[in-house]
Amino acid sequence: MGDRWRVEVDRSVCIGSGMCVGAAPDDFRLDAARQSHPVEPEADAAESVLAAAEGCPVEAISVTVADSGEAVFPPEE
Ligand code: SF4
Repeated sequence: MGDRWRVEVDRSVCIGSGMCVGAAPDDFRLDAARQSHPVEPEADAAESVLAAAEGCPVEAISVTVADSGEAVFPPEE
């Protein structure tokens, strides 16, 4: 892949399930309030990051291509 992805978590939506941390432990952390944060605002494109976004039960995670802003997840309708 080789792209850089911008990763965002909507904390008003996150319910702190921790599934993203399980899917991509290098890219997500839970804070003391059990809210998920990206470890870095940008990450190398990786299946684990996509799996975390797809696996979030409340779709709190959005991923876009850092350069172009193109939607990775959720995909554009
Ligand atoms: S999987 Fe979704 S709801 Fe669960 S901690 Fe991660 S962002 Fe929050």
